[in-house]
Amino acid sequence: MSVTNLIRVRPQWQQELAQSITDPVELAQQLELPQGWVEQHLGARKLFPLRVTQYFVDQMERGNTADPLLLQVMPQADEFTQQPGFVTDPLEEQDNEHPGILHKYKSRVLVILRGGCAINCRYCFRRHFPYQDHHFGRAQLNQLIALVEADANINEVILSGGDPLMANDTQLDTVLTALEQLPQLKRIRIHSRLPIVLPSRLTQELAKRLQQSRLQAILVLHANHANEITPALMNALKVWSNAGITLLNQSVLLARVNDDAVTLAELSEALFAAGVLPYYLHQLDKVAGASHFSISDEKARNLEQQLRAMLPGFLVPKLVREVAGEASKTPL
Ligand SMILES: *Cc1c(COP(=O)(O)O)cnc(C)c1O
Ligand code: SF4
Repeated sequence: MSVTNLIRVRPQWQQELAQSITDPVELAQQLELPQGWVEQHLGARKLFPLRVTQYFVDQMERGNTADPLLLQVMPQADEFTQQPGFVTDPLEEQDNEHPGILHKYKSRVLVILRGGCAINCRYCFRRHFPYQDHHFGRAQLNQLIALVEADANINEVILSGGDPLMANDTQLDTVLTALEQLPQLKRIRIHSRLPIVLPSRLTQELAKRLQQSRLQAILVLHANHANEITPALMNALKVWSNAGITLLNQSVLLARVNDDAVTLAELSEALFAAGVLPYYLHQLDKVAGASHFSISDEKARNLEQQLRAMLPGFLVPKLVREVAGEASKTPL
């Protein structure tokens, strides 16, 4: 088989991924942003590289340096600001005895299936630990199986990352097939931002595979703004909800991106129109280099209160933060 044939059989989403944008100057040119503005921020890419899909850029507004999607991915001079309390490993997860497997909550175990992501979000703790090389192979799968079998409390496995949907459908099938053999498991959950930045990742084949599974499947998306809910995403999600997959979303509260009640209400409405229920609204993890995204707990609580008045209860996400050592996410 020739090289061109090999390239042709790669799924659409992998081809799109290979064409991601990593140069801030190119991004700025596409979006017609002022050159002086770009130069002012360029240095921050050394802290954490720019990475974004063309599809996500296509949802941004031209000429708008305050675009809520742009702010999530564009390196910013503010990232050099050091704030007390903002550290490289806020969740104290770095020296785990089983790398890639986190069993912090009684009934569910989370695995880092793939270290990489389709985009680099500026507010993410991954900026200090890109774990690009992390690969969940046969040895880790065997460790996971042993861990589940040794603890009858575990009934759900969460595939996370990085981004678990960076794995291809064959790799996911292998993991799923192994987990289906464990009678104590009821559910399989996928935490992914990939559909938001690359809807073509929501393949029909994977939806079908999950539909056929003995395990109930849940997909938890990560969208932060209504502009991330596009017709392309809604079409792709329809196939997944028709396959009986429960669709949820988690967001992070981010200054200037979504820190007002109207913006958050629009996000909830857009999600529901796409068949997705809001699940969590996270107060930002205190990550070094991301302090300019943070808002006070008082403001966060006030936003939640406003949302409760504006929306039906089922469209109000739970406002939580992650506290190292707690038995669950902690309500604010
Ligand atoms: C967030 C998280 C979970 C999932 O928590 P839920 O409240 O069930 O959504 C599980 N394990 C770890 C390590 C987590 O950080
Ligand atoms: S883990 Fe999620 S929030 Fe962090 S960079 Fe990847 S996609 Fe973005």
